[in-house]
Amino acid sequence: MTLKSGRHFLQIPGPSNVPDRILHAIAHPTIDHRGPTFQKLSKEVLLGSRRIFKTSDPVIIFPTSGTGAWEASLMNTLNPGDKILMFETGHFATLWHNMAKKFGLEIDFVPTNWRHGVDPQVVEDKLREDKDHLIKSVNVVHNETSTGVTSRISEIRDAIDRVNHPALFMVDTISSLGSIDYRHEEWKVDVTIGCSQKGLMLPPGLGFNAVSQKALEASKNNGFKTHFWDWNDMLKANETFFYPSTPCTNLLFGLHEAIKMLEEEGLDNVFARHDRFAEATRRAVRAWGLEVLCEKPQEYSSVLTAVMMPGGKGADNLRKVILEKVNMSLGNGLGKIADKVFRIGHLGDLNDLSLIGTLAGVEMGLELAGVEHTKGGVAAAMEYLTASLV
Ligand SMILES: *Cc1c(COP(=O)(O)O)cnc(C)c1O
Repeated sequence: MTLKSGRHFLQIPGPSNVPDRILHAIAHPTIDHRGPTFQKLSKEVLLGSRRIFKTSDPVIIFPTSGTGAWEASLMNTLNPGDKILMFETGHFATLWHNMAKKFGLEIDFVPTNWRHGVDPQVVEDKLREDKDHLIKSVNVVHNETSTGVTSRISEIRDAIDRVNHPALFMVDTISSLGSIDYRHEEWKVDVTIGCSQKGLMLPPGLGFNAVSQKALEASKNNGFKTHFWDWNDMLKANETFFYPSTPCTNLLFGLHEAIKMLEEEGLDNVFARHDRFAEATRRAVRAWGLEVLCEKPQEYSSVLTAVMMPGGKGADNLRKVILEKVNMSLGNGLGKIADKVFRIGHLGDLNDLSLIGTLAGVEMGLELAGVEHTKGGVAAAMEYLTASLV
């Protein structure tokens, strides 16, 4: 392997690029996690995280990947054998479902074609049929990272409210938090699951649960026995901003900086920036004569775009060529769309020129890998980006 000069382009939809400011913040001497410096840091990140989730409810931070934060959401709120409603919107929704199944939950897993989000009408119908309120939770992935499709959380909330159903509402915002508008409190979500390595621009290692009072009530008499994931132990220690076991101190320095960066830019500006990059990317895809996997414009993801391969295969070869020739990583097709799609991540620490560089790498790769396409995707994206700057 010869040295590759310049930065590697990491354009997978998470882990995302970590900005230098955050890398520098993490590069801090290790501190006493029971001392006053930690306590001050911890207070700021625990309270600051609430602003990112848009809630006054507690936000719990575990040392874990997103999968652990999923596990915590189920372990704290449900009982073995409980009935829950889930939707097969893609690979991540399927993994969450598989976890719930392993725990012995009884799941109504509503299938989709992986090209659209959760249909609020289906939520309403399913809950209306459930006269005895046997369904204990409705679990939805906000941004399906395997497909580039979002589900409309506020409309799903309205659907639950229309039938006055008491089920808990749990939302995976692992790849949307800090990139797409999300409102834990306003949308009355009971458990919001997040993690560090996507919109928050941190390395992997922190998992989040934002928990409503209703979810906390459920956690008081839940039937799963867990120690590490126990919210109540965590919240007790968090009263003084400490933790029951050793937290990821250095990542919390990074989180402190990430919150600062998101707030300096302003969350609404961050969301608008992502929307703009996603639109530019879709214009490039269309100019190439390729198809976006998401079939409903109101469910387009601003975090990533999944692109369908002409002929339904060859995405892995294209990604391999792009990695070898232009030093860029793109997301692969996961689960049943393996090799059929590639995913362009456009989230986190990204500007106009890094997006144009990314799209140029894709256009070069299409040519090098012999994928049938029309040139001019980069030009179409540039035209759109330029027009919105004047
Ligand atoms: C990345 C991701 C996960 C899994 O998180 P890990 O950190 O890999 O455990 C879950 N859900 C969604 C929507 C994701 O994007």
